[in-house]
Amino acid sequence: MAILVLGGAGYIGSHTVYELIDKGADVVVVDNLETGHIEAVHPKARFYKGDIRSRGFIDSVFENEEIHAVIHFAANSLVGESMVDPLKYYDNNVYGTKVLLESMIAHDVKKIVFSSTAATYGEPENIPILEDDKTCPTNAYGETKLAMEKMMKWTDIAHGLKYVALRYFNACGAHESGCIGEAHSPETHLIPLILQVPLGQREFISIFGDDYDTKDGTCIRDYIHVTDLAQAHILAVKYLLDGGESNTFNLGNGVGFTVKEVIETAKKATGLDIAQRITPRRAGDPARLIASSDKAKEVLGWNPQHADLEEIISSAWKWHSTHPHGFKKQEA
Ligand code: UDP
Repeated sequence: MAILVLGGAGYIGSHTVYELIDKGADVVVVDNLETGHIEAVHPKARFYKGDIRSRGFIDSVFENEEIHAVIHFAANSLVGESMVDPLKYYDNNVYGTKVLLESMIAHDVKKIVFSSTAATYGEPENIPILEDDKTCPTNAYGETKLAMEKMMKWTDIAHGLKYVALRYFNACGAHESGCIGEAHSPETHLIPLILQVPLGQREFISIFGDDYDTKDGTCIRDYIHVTDLAQAHILAVKYLLDGGESNTFNLGNGVGFTVKEVIETAKKATGLDIAQRITPRRAGDPARLIASSDKAKEVLGWNPQHADLEEIISSAWKWHSTHPHGFKKQEA
């Protein structure tokens, strides 16, 4: 019996596959390699290259393999791109998930854990954010993730498909081995962009606005290590296999850091100076996003191990400083 990881060549997917294999699981990876990297696929996973929007392809995977649960990361995830090309997000994230769920039901596979996001909440009403707070996404990416959650809810009611939606806050850091890490193209996330400065790839880090209503005027986020996220997926699969009902969980550390604090911590973690410049706000950025993850701790028994921001950034630095062009040997 295997676990099928869709999007297992991507950032969070590849780290989850490493943790699953470390625990002795039999793992099948599917990825279309549009944003994922073949080098990130664990050598012990069985790999199928293909797209979840292709019913014939996804059916063939369920027919070849004996799958007892699915972890679904296969989606587009750039907020900015989703505002310029929303239909790309509806096609891959929403339509892709619809095809996947049809195939799962046809093959009687009825347990799925999938990547949702803090972006489902939009501008939060309360801090820390609880799972039953209002969801009102401010971008198309968050809207498609919320649509995926709702699609699963109705599929559960009609067909008994049990799901766990994991709403991530700010995923960051890299595997302790330093052999896999974050490699997006284009890169839009704060920590890898900060680290491009000491790598000599960027002159300065832009701070997107210093006039927010926060202690130093810059946005506050809840940064969570990718290995801790990976562990939550494994616990969520176990929860479903033990007969757990469909559920939604926030995943964060419950501690907020400003952009300026993240830059200062990166200076300590690298031992290098990092030039910075204040630039205008980025559209759609809430001032403050901090999770309450009490529910994941209570129900799943989740216990993040890498909450220290300097440790998180050090793990990212280990990856980026040894792989300055990501999985490529040199810049294309
Ligand atoms: N940010 C920034 N400069 C950058 C990239 C990001 O100031 O070059 C800020 C961004 O406005 C947000 C925080 O860093 O407040 C985290 O942004 P990221 O894109 O990493 O994650 P998000 O919170 O958007 O999911």
